[in-house]
Amino acid sequence: MFNWLRSFHFALKDRNLHFFLYGSILVLGGLLIRQIYFVKPVDLYQEALLSKISQFDLEQSLQQVPETIKPDSIKVPILIYHSVRPHSSGETAMQLHYEVAPDAFESQLKYLRDNGYTVISLEYLVESLSDNITLPPKSIVITFDDGWKNQYGYAFPLLKKYADTATFFITSDYVGGGYFLTWDQIRVMDNSGMTIGGHTRTHPYLVSVKDPAVLKNEITGSKLLIEKQIGHSIDLFAYPYGHYNDTVIQAVKDAGFRSARSTYKGVFHTSADLYTLKGLEVTDDMKAFASSIQ
Ligand SMILES: [Zn+2]
Repeated sequence: MFNWLRSFHFALKDRNLHFFLYGSILVLGGLLIRQIYFVKPVDLYQEALLSKISQFDLEQSLQQVPETIKPDSIKVPILIYHSVRPHSSGETAMQLHYEVAPDAFESQLKYLRDNGYTVISLEYLVESLSDNITLPPKSIVITFDDGWKNQYGYAFPLLKKYADTATFFITSDYVGGGYFLTWDQIRVMDNSGMTIGGHTRTHPYLVSVKDPAVLKNEITGSKLLIEKQIGHSIDLFAYPYGHYNDTVIQAVKDAGFRSARSTYKGVFHTSADLYTLKGLEVTDDMKAFASSIQ
């Protein structure tokens, strides 16, 4: 064995390749160790999602568009959650922006209950906007994006505990993949008073999709797939990364969705906003949470 290694080493040395080979082994080994011990696979998924848009686009999506309050505007905060799971050390600000710890999530549900809020479904908000139904005072809506499995493990039991309802926007092609919900879990939530909505097939940045066929496949395709799996129609859509333009809105309407939520910040809605609903992205910060829904 050692003789073989020795002759291999000298053969490489003759060709001046040994530094290259040993350097490569060191680098690959280092990467492997980093991968195993320091990077959680779920973070890779999140990074993959985030890397699809440029920093510029992300800054834009986080940017606040001033809210116009019209005489017929109603004030109903739509809370936006992504992952609900315990934080781990070394998470970036970006990751923390898309993740709420289970105890913080419970504190928020408790805050809503203790402070006189009524959690209504997004469907009911849409109905009230379309049909002028008067909502209970301090109505509020809870939504979850992307279809992370941790939403079933951590958020769903707490929603049941507080007898609250929420809408889960599913990226249909990810369903069943390691860190995402399974169809069985989606059916359980659907049958337990939760609402299932569409979030495209593969989570593209829809504003930059130029091919109408691709747009249709992402939006209508995901709707049909989800409906086939849960056995009834779905009405609600959320734009991946929160952005839209007129073409995207038209494709969402053509697919048969009744309403769509962005990630632009705001709490006021009218019937003109059915396809451009604003929301509030939630973090662990209880003070920010309480003041944003005031
Ligand atoms: Zn998303």
